[in-house]
Amino acid sequence: MKNWVDLICFQFCVHCGEYVYQGENIFCYSCFRKLLDKTHKVSGLREIKSGYLHFYLFDWEKGDNSSLVHSLIYGIKGGRAQVTFNKLASQFALYHSKYGFKNPVFVPAPSKNHEVDHAGQWAMALAKVYGTQYFDLFDRSKDLEQKQKNRAERNKLKLKIKDNLPLGWESFLYKFSEIVFVDDILTTGATAKKAYEYLKMFGKTSCITVTYRL
Ligand SMILES: [Zn+2]
Repeated sequence: MKNWVDLICFQFCVHCGEYVYQGENIFCYSCFRKLLDKTHKVSGLREIKSGYLHFYLFDWEKGDNSSLVHSLIYGIKGGRAQVTFNKLASQFALYHSKYGFKNPVFVPAPSKNHEVDHAGQWAMALAKVYGTQYFDLFDRSKDLEQKQKNRAERNKLKLKIKDNLPLGWESFLYKFSEIVFVDDILTTGATAKKAYEYLKMFGKTSCITVTYRL
């Protein structure tokens, strides 16, 4: 019986296959250390032409199917995403403490099916680390299956403000000094740009993603 209990308490590292305690993140200790080392070397801060700052933790090159970053993106699809994002958010806050986000509110990219997805979980993790709130502001319209569209079509995509927002949501947003749009992966930046066009009326706006896919 003890062996059976041991077995269900363990999971495997998504990168190297080592045992990991359930409740820990998707990586073993050693792989997670290596992933965090990558943050220090390559994570970045870019100023996007339209004027907002984009923070991200990892570069991810297309076709790179063997790296820790690839394991991260595909590994979180199997669960344990929240605990992994919590750890990455702490790391980000530590690493970017000199820029900081001052009195921020985190606004996730719209999810499919109105369920909290990776952008939402990443936003929650950041809000927790910064001791602030996240606000689920955006919806996407039904025809926004990005993968099925080419780049030009994606650039035309429309975000919409949710229909059922609580009264006074605008004044809620104005209370914060900075609005941070949150997504898990940024590729063309089309969604982030649309979000920025909405959010900038509330003041300083920036964007944070886990990866920037080159
Ligand atoms: Zn590992």
